[in-house]
Amino acid sequence: MISVQEAVEIIQSNIIEPELIEVPFYDAVGKVLAEPIAADRDFPPFNRVMMDGVAINNEQYQSGQRLFAIEATQLAGAPQLELKNVVNCLEVMTGAMLPIGADTVIRYEDVTIEGNKAVINDIEIKKGQNIHLQGQDIKTKQIIIESNTLITPAEMGVITTVGKNKVKVYKPLKFAIISTGDELVNVEEEPEMYQIRQSNSHVLRASLDQLGMVSQVFHIVDKKEELKSRIEKILSEYDVLVLSGGVSKGKSDFVPEVLEELGVTKHFHRVAQRPGKPFWFGTIRKKSVFALPGNPVSTFLCFNKYILPWLRKSYSLDDNIQLTQLAEDFEFKPDLTYFLQVKVNNDKGMLKAKPVVGQGSGDLANLVFADGFLELPANKSNFKAGEVFPYIPYRTSE
Ligand code: AMP
Ligand code: MG
Repeated sequence: MISVQEAVEIIQSNIIEPELIEVPFYDAVGKVLAEPIAADRDFPPFNRVMMDGVAINNEQYQSGQRLFAIEATQLAGAPQLELKNVVNCLEVMTGAMLPIGADTVIRYEDVTIEGNKAVINDIEIKKGQNIHLQGQDIKTKQIIIESNTLITPAEMGVITTVGKNKVKVYKPLKFAIISTGDELVNVEEEPEMYQIRQSNSHVLRASLDQLGMVSQVFHIVDKKEELKSRIEKILSEYDVLVLSGGVSKGKSDFVPEVLEELGVTKHFHRVAQRPGKPFWFGTIRKKSVFALPGNPVSTFLCFNKYILPWLRKSYSLDDNIQLTQLAEDFEFKPDLTYFLQVKVNNDKGMLKAKPVVGQGSGDLANLVFADGFLELPANKSNFKAGEVFPYIPYRTSE
């Protein structure tokens, strides 16, 4: 049996380098950028009017002039006009170019329009107000998004503004998610007394969807030959296999021997942790095979503790290790790393993790009551309130 740290190191030294592909911009969200995105022109690209109103020459206002004849209207989407005479004004709309000769915009709320004249109220006016200057946000050629960034809706605005019709991204890995077990039936089925609906595959698939990965769900019964022939075929078609169930010491736990018979190199079986002790990991032809224990909390923990950081490393994404304070004393005697389920609350600006222990690794309902796992090290039994430990969140705090 190996330690959690050893398991992490072994897994992380077997990363897969994803291929580079080009996708239309509308397919880029959820994928990882494989090129930097630079500004094709200034942001904003011209001196942009920020308010509907009138544009004037500030000096005229400061010298006491309040009544301005309106020369014309500068609309958004129209070529730039020119203020022909500084004693006049132009009506201007949000998003329009600031007309040549004008340097200040006064919003309609401070103006009375009478026919083709504008009377500006006695207010404090500053030269340049309500004008978003060309290049004020970003200069041409400036890199706005670095390569190896996960593309979210926030990045979409920049990608489209700079005219990236096609975007270079890393190809999503193809995952096969395989649940094993004779007791499992599909979600839409009515289970017999001795059966349960299978949930692990759907939890795994939903987790992988959030990272833009491609995945397919399979279910295989606990028959060794069937397990072997189906996994053999799946191995030839997918980049990564994530199995759940069948890795412990039960009479129907054939997964480790089947994987080894198929030539998958075993890197470890069993990790000194709770939950998830029977975790098995191997590789074959640059493909990774994660065989997770079937108990739902074990499956979920192993995904979040091992597979997720491995994936992030494969895509060169930052690993954001968080530390959180234990909110109350806690005791765990066995010499194992204990992944304590916790609910995290904000206590006067400090995040505090309150144990939500549940009924063990089969208690999948407890995942809903907690926010994440606090990683309590193996070499200790008594953990005190106020001590800080690595925290693995599985939901963003509300
Ligand atoms: P195993 O690791 O196969 O010994 O399974 C351990 C426990 O997890 C058993 O109670 C199984 O019924 C349960 N289990 C295994 N696979 C799944 C699954 N895909 N969804 C929900 N529960 C499962
Ligand atoms: Mg089983």
